[in-house]
Amino acid sequence: MAEVVNRPDTAVNLPEMASEDSLALTTTKNTTEVTAPAEKKVKKIIRRKKRPARAQVDPATVKSEPPAQTGTTFNIWYNKWAGGDKEDSAMSQTHAKGRCNIALDSGYTKADGHPGAFFCLYFARGVCHKGQDCDYLHRLPGPYDIFPQNVDCFGRDKFSDYRDDMGGVGSFSRQNRTIYVGRIHVSDDIEEIVARHFAEWGPIERIRVLSNRGIAFVTYRDLANAEFAKEAMAWQSLEGNEILNLRWSLPDPNPMAQKREARRIEEQAAEAIRKALPAEFVAEIEGKDPEARKRRKIESGYGLEGYEAPDEVHFARGPNAVNPRGREGFELEHEQRLMLEAAEQEMMQEQQYDKPPPQQQQQGGIFSSSTLAALQGAQVAVASKPAPKTSTGPLVAYDSDSD
Ligand SMILES: [Zn+2]
Repeated sequence: MAEVVNRPDTAVNLPEMASEDSLALTTTKNTTEVTAPAEKKVKKIIRRKKRPARAQVDPATVKSEPPAQTGTTFNIWYNKWAGGDKEDSAMSQTHAKGRCNIALDSGYTKADGHPGAFFCLYFARGVCHKGQDCDYLHRLPGPYDIFPQNVDCFGRDKFSDYRDDMGGVGSFSRQNRTIYVGRIHVSDDIEEIVARHFAEWGPIERIRVLSNRGIAFVTYRDLANAEFAKEAMAWQSLEGNEILNLRWSLPDPNPMAQKREARRIEEQAAEAIRKALPAEFVAEIEGKDPEARKRRKIESGYGLEGYEAPDEVHFARGPNAVNPRGREGFELEHEQRLMLEAAEQEMMQEQQYDKPPPQQQQQGGIFSSSTLAALQGAQVAVASKPAPKTSTGPLVAYDSDSD
């Protein structure tokens, strides 16, 4: 009977399944058998296995047929009709055959575990019938899915320039993460609808919607997601029965946006270098190594409390360098320059007799004497020329910094 009293105590710590088992086994009245399997069950951890990708369409329904006749001659190499002026892919508004459902369709395929594998174009379009036997990835691209610049995430070659209609694979000369979405059914909640449908394909940086014209520009955070989304949403409908027209966006003419983009690409390059170099080297470059940091602070303070010269001053090389180390090897040349400058100054003083006196040189200012001399020379040269017309004409108002 002692065993029976103990059993509820042990059962309390066990998961639902194990306690049920132990209760069931109490009827056998064999105590040694009861405790052993119960302990085993506690140790069992349920591991969620990665799910295989499912086929998006029934393979039986897939037929291999030449495409519908859209031209006068059939090119067997490209499997396309050519000639004639019937074909205009922008005007042929046929709805996409399928639509990818990331939550239900994605899973592992033969491509998983192969570094550098490409994404399945048919999966993105929602019509891959191969499921887990596909040689391409059946999932959404992530931030680490970065491909060579000359191919897109599906492994298709990019071109040097965009097509005239901005469709197709796109160009390798520009990192374009913005998709133009046209022919959206105009409704009151168009912004919400666009955001909801396009957020399915990855993290979005920004969306601009021209509500009354049924146009949107969707910018993804990562290039691969933009490429994926452009294929996934091509010829799809949102809430209405429209057929979307997807293109690559033209570059943003806003100079601020261009600067932002340039900085982003710079940061990306820096990140790539960081990955490629050993960690301690990067730490020294970036000043994360405290010793190197301390040394730099002492060296570039030049005896001034709390002052630290910026990089361009500290690493400057030449006779006028502030850093004594930067002047090494320039002394002789410097003396020659000083002599030349003295001669130049004499000549200048002669020229300046009939001109207003120059500004007094500030001793100990941030500019060295040679720099000031050069500036003075420039002043003279400018003063001798006629002043350019700056504030006349009707376009003066556009020449302001206030926009
Ligand atoms: Zn596939």
